[in-house]
Amino acid sequence: MRNDPAVKLIDSKGLRVDGRRLDELRPIKMEVGILDKANGSAYIEHGKNKILAAVYGPREAHPKHIALADRAVVRCRYHMAPFSVDERKSPAPSRRELELSKVIRESLEPAIMSEYFPRATIDIFIEVLQADAGTRCAGITAASLALADAGIPMRELVAACAAGKIEGKVILDLSDIEDKKGEADLPVALLPKSNVISLIQMDGSLSDEEFRQALDLSTDACRKIYEMQREALKLKYHIVRDGTEDKEEMAEVKA
Ligand code: UDP
Repeated sequence: MRNDPAVKLIDSKGLRVDGRRLDELRPIKMEVGILDKANGSAYIEHGKNKILAAVYGPREAHPKHIALADRAVVRCRYHMAPFSVDERKSPAPSRRELELSKVIRESLEPAIMSEYFPRATIDIFIEVLQADAGTRCAGITAASLALADAGIPMRELVAACAAGKIEGKVILDLSDIEDKKGEADLPVALLPKSNVISLIQMDGSLSDEEFRQALDLSTDACRKIYEMQREALKLKYHIVRDGTEDKEEMAEVKA
């Protein structure tokens, strides 16, 4: 993180590089159930991020020694495609991807009723096809939909969004340039009904007041994203009920 004075991230009208207000989300589109082979799946476009999530399970744990007697083992793999970023990314798992796989799993686990499936595994795959900052958050939002689509009992959905700071101002939902040139990034995942925060990380520095502002912005955004998730799920089941083969419009809500 660094504040580079050569790059202007907020113009004289108070708008950001992509024309957004400080507290504005990027456009978001979601679609549930787009892969035939996985038990559950979802696709999200969050700004320029394009991310697929697929879920397998619950299925018998393999190898057997990883099984737990009282609940399912939840596994998660976050992976960026080599073509998802400007510089080709090695397809081999990086330290960053291992870390993100762990924090994404931990952010979803409180919502999953894994106690119903002892000795089973639930596998979550997140494939980032195009990245523009906030991929862990968009990945969590999509994975939560894919889990619901797989019919895995959940206490509630998990929605995620980051806030941060650029040029001394607290902002919502950083894009890549804001993430790279800005002063702080605060990704947050929320279980909106129980008001439980299941992920909070911070890169950079914020004062107490700025931290509070950023947290309020990101949790409010998570609540909006949660409503979009519900719409996306309803749309899927509306199509199933109607038996319609036509691909309807993706559930799209612009903040
Ligand atoms: N990024 C990149 N190359 C990499 C890793 C990340 O260009 O190997 C970019 C990508 O746009 C990513 C952003 O940096 O979304 C921010 O990455 P970060 O680690 O903060 O995670 P994210 O914000 O995506 O959750």
